[in-house]
Amino acid sequence: MQRVLARGEIESLDHTSIPRLRQPVRASVFADRAARLRQLAQDNPLSAYLLLMAALADGQHQAIRHCRMPGPDDERIHLAQAHGMPPLQATGWQRDPGWRALLASLLTHMAALPDVPAQALQAVQALQHRLDSDPDAIEAQADAVLAEREAGVDAAAAPFIVAALQVYWTSLAADFNESDMPVVSPQGVCPLCGSLPVASVVRVGGQADGCRYLCCSLCSAEWHLVRVTCSHCQDTKDVAYHSIEGGPEGIKAESCDHCHTYRKIFYQEKALGVDPVADDLASLTLDMLMGEAGYARASGNPLLWQHEPVAS
Ligand SMILES: [Zn+2]
Ligand SMILES: [Zn+2]
Repeated sequence: MQRVLARGEIESLDHTSIPRLRQPVRASVFADRAARLRQLAQDNPLSAYLLLMAALADGQHQAIRHCRMPGPDDERIHLAQAHGMPPLQATGWQRDPGWRALLASLLTHMAALPDVPAQALQAVQALQHRLDSDPDAIEAQADAVLAEREAGVDAAAAPFIVAALQVYWTSLAADFNESDMPVVSPQGVCPLCGSLPVASVVRVGGQADGCRYLCCSLCSAEWHLVRVTCSHCQDTKDVAYHSIEGGPEGIKAESCDHCHTYRKIFYQEKALGVDPVADDLASLTLDMLMGEAGYARASGNPLLWQHEPVAS
């Protein structure tokens, strides 16, 4: 049986024994997500959307197998180390135009599926057309989603654009040489690509056992954060946990009364196949509960850009 360490116990451990970073595994990251989305789609009110995103994750799995994009050069690594910045910083990165070929392959994959809902097919075909006729507009959309801006993002197109960018950055993160990591990283964002976390997971097994990791919405890397700490403002005093009575086990919302935000936290000991992006998407009921309680989501889900009103 797995034992979960309390916060004080974790802090008393030798910190060097806790892996700071968990890099994504190219062969399994998107295949695991697709499987998890299909599992969660059973008896879920969002079933059709979860299955659509599972098909998209299948496409990502195919695409990342052969994806090799130029990583950071020595100068960028040196700058990142000197300034404690994410070495794969997504905003401002000179994207290789090959990322649009990744997007095209995902769209071809989606358009060929036998049972795509009409609305989704329309979005896919519109994007295919735009990719040919106005690549600059696609680049501008990519900039907007990477900057996590709400304004100017085409909500119907965004999940597909994000999916291609996830393949790009997950490939970079999988290839990244961990010994090139800066000693210091900015708080609250992914130490590799600088994006916001989608949620956190308390892992089981190995040296990470019982430790909480924040999960990147873009490059699929995970980084350690001490438990009972607000992942948005790092406050440790006003953190509380909420769950739905009679709801699925192993999901809580970690709220903070200092900054009035929350992110979900998943407990792998209760759900071995947990995937932060999939599990977050499949638990919108908890978001509604948190909204009613007056908390705002600290960051969105990369596969859902329909902005619901959040409590102020
Ligand atoms: Zn990242
Ligand atoms: Zn906070």
